Amino acid sequence: MDYVQLAVPFFILALLLELAYGFYIKKNTYRFNDTISSIFMGSLRSTSKFIGIGIGGYVFYLAETQFALWRMDENSLFTWIFAFIAYDFFYYWFHRISHERQIFWASHVAHHQSEDYNLSTALRQTGTGFLISWVFYIPLFLIGVPSYVYVSVATLNLVYQFWVHTEHIPKLGWYELFFITPSNHRVHHARNEAYIDKNYGGVFIIWDRFFGTFKEEDEDKPCIYGLRSPIRTFNPIWANFHIYVKMIRDFVAADSLKEKLYVPFSKTGWSPSNLNVKPVNTDKDDFERFDPKSSKTIGFYGVIQLIILVLLGLSLETSTLGYAKNALIIFMIGYTMFCVSRWFDNKPVLKFEIIRLILLPCVFIYFLPLSLELTYLTIGYTLLNAVILYPIYQSSLKTINA
Ligand SMILES: [Zn+2]
Ligand SMILES: [Zn+2]
Repeated sequence: MDYVQLAVPFFILALLLELAYGFYIKKNTYRFNDTISSIFMGSLRSTSKFIGIGIGGYVFYLAETQFALWRMDENSLFTWIFAFIAYDFFYYWFHRISHERQIFWASHVAHHQSEDYNLSTALRQTGTGFLISWVFYIPLFLIGVPSYVYVSVATLNLVYQFWVHTEHIPKLGWYELFFITPSNHRVHHARNEAYIDKNYGGVFIIWDRFFGTFKEEDEDKPCIYGLRSPIRTFNPIWANFHIYVKMIRDFVAADSLKEKLYVPFSKTGWSPSNLNVKPVNTDKDDFERFDPKSSKTIGFYGVIQLIILVLLGLSLETSTLGYAKNALIIFMIGYTMFCVSRWFDNKPVLKFEIIRLILLPCVFIYFLPLSLELTYLTIGYTLLNAVILYPIYQSSLKTINA
């Protein structure tokens, strides 16, 4: 059973509660631009499965039906406890390699770009994880974990990780010894030199303690969140692909075949020797969060688009339109997110918005067989976007000139 979908309403509720609590104690940890960007990426992740190539599922099926040593009884409590703990063990190694090697970091980096730390950071998940992460879980099938149990424990593990993304919960005494907590996961998200590449567990911190990657949060060294090389944009597409692009550039730039072949397997942050890239010192306290000022109108526009896109994304769960048409809708979702992020980035966006206004009726009315109600809805949505475009543009000019 996929527990992530079941948990979504609780995620939203918890997020609103954390926001309200932050205002109440006068320590708000949310920003409009960063939060919307994180939720965009969470919904992109859930849409990516509709265009995912499903290799993982096929390999799991083969491992389970052809190569498993035996099959565990899915009605036994032992199977569930064993699978829950074993999954976290493989998750630890997958997560560790995701930080240490460039090809895996390219996908996982998306979870670490936020320069804030709150429950919306938890929703910020990679959209390209389906490409390779499944490799690490093949052993679970070989040792007989049934696929139903696997999906259940994998999603429970992810749901557990949600609540640890908060600055409001302090250290938790003895619980810190065994489990992933807000305190030790804050360290995992920090860019301070002492905190880099630490605390990889999903539910249990025992693997980190055992394999030497544990680091306790130091009260005298407050966590500074984000990447060592910040992307300085809220563009969710670039957020998902920038390391892949870097790898292609490195491959082209490297002047020996040995270095070219090394690119995907290199340590994170490595670049070909002829590029002379200097390592970044993240302990300098001159770090400034990426926070271009944008107007309230743009913030409001972002929230409206967020609600519409999330609803559209959720409607795909029950879509019977088929692969190509789902892909077309996901393209429009991604393109709209791109436009919203340009407003937040304070970058020229007018021509992209005009293209979107032309694409909207073309895609939704001409290419997709919509019911009459949905056709009216699309026309209404397009008109609304057209009407608010000018005031948003005006408000962006004021912000830039201010
Ligand atoms: Zn990580
Ligand atoms: Zn995290």
